[in-house]
Amino acid sequence: MAFKNYLFKNLWLQVVISLIVGLGVGLILGDDVGIGLDDDALDSMSTYLKIPANIFLSVIMMIIVPLIFASIVVAITNLGGDKSIKTLGLGIGIYFVISTTIAILIAISLASIIAPGSILDLTALQETHDLSEDELKSTDGFSIDDVPSAISNIIPRNPIVSYLEGQMFSILIMAVIVGLSMAALPKESVKPLLDLLESVQRITLYILLMAMKIVPFAVFGMIVAMVAKIGVETMGGLGAYMGTVILGLGAMLLVYAMIIKFVAKRPLSSTFSKFRNPQTLAFSTASSMATMPMTLKTAEEDLKIDKRISKFVIPLGTTVNMDGTALYQAIAVFFLAQLFTIELSVFSILIIIMTSLLASIGTPAVPGAGVVVLSTILITVGIPPVGILLLLSVDRILDMIRTMVNITGDLTAACVFDKIARD
Ligand code: ASP
Repeated sequence: MAFKNYLFKNLWLQVVISLIVGLGVGLILGDDVGIGLDDDALDSMSTYLKIPANIFLSVIMMIIVPLIFASIVVAITNLGGDKSIKTLGLGIGIYFVISTTIAILIAISLASIIAPGSILDLTALQETHDLSEDELKSTDGFSIDDVPSAISNIIPRNPIVSYLEGQMFSILIMAVIVGLSMAALPKESVKPLLDLLESVQRITLYILLMAMKIVPFAVFGMIVAMVAKIGVETMGGLGAYMGTVILGLGAMLLVYAMIIKFVAKRPLSSTFSKFRNPQTLAFSTASSMATMPMTLKTAEEDLKIDKRISKFVIPLGTTVNMDGTALYQAIAVFFLAQLFTIELSVFSILIIIMTSLLASIGTPAVPGAGVVVLSTILITVGIPPVGILLLLSVDRILDMIRTMVNITGDLTAACVFDKIARD
């Protein structure tokens, strides 16, 4: 009875159980150790298995735009006067750049020491991955040439279009502009909109709590489909690469632990244990965006972070601060360079640092985005982007872990700025 109650209350435990059962079922259906269903049967079964995950993501996508907009406007308006918001904004910007740079440096050190790409045989790997032309096309169209137009379009000319298309970065910019204007105007003239946005926030968070109930089923479906289709052997072939990424992500968690202890000055184990629910959700959904409402709730209710700080840092961090993604992208670039035996000069390494930083800022916080944006970095340093196809088969599992690191970074930043604000 006690276990049943505990299970009902703890999402992370439900997810762990779904993961284990899903892994077992996936192995039974796959051809490594199980009955080996054929590809067609697996494909049609996967479409059904993925229904709960698709439903969950649709609910999140439905609420995320109003939630992000409302959170940022409310936060900036409540922070009031231009000076504090300017200082906070600048501080957060610098902090995000530093933490992402640390992540990239960890990645470069590990990738150079372990050299996962030199361990593998390229031709054998290509054969096991059965690369098709269609998959090859899916990574086209991202290049560094898109940067000027992306910068020119940063201010949304037509906010309705940005809303409809879910262009998070434009929505963020607009929210900052509206928030700053509201903060500058007299309180009574902005109160009606402020009240409205506050209730939008409450309603969207309530919808999230309801949607959360299907997460364990979503995880089960995704894992069964993944294990049955990809198989253990393929994962083994890329084991060194996966191991390096996971080690790097683990090292980044240690960096956060030190920041929490020495900079935010919070007790380590109790703070980290409060991160568990959003971390589980990030792991299950592989989307920081989908996790954002939960990250925000944890920051405010469990970590007791000043609401004005959390409502600013969390939505902003979710959109632009992706340390896990940057770390993963830098390791992937090194891995492919080693695999294709391409020498990286000091200049190329500097370019990798810069582009990983920018790419992680620009990566949308949705599943699988990191690997797609990776092609921009590859093109910049002259590595054939086709290499990405080798990474795709194991990307989902790495995506789950790096997303967990991404949101841990956002929560850590919120703890730091909460401390600074209190001081
Ligand atoms: N899935 C990641 C996130 O939402 C982004 C990525 O693909 O790296 O944070």
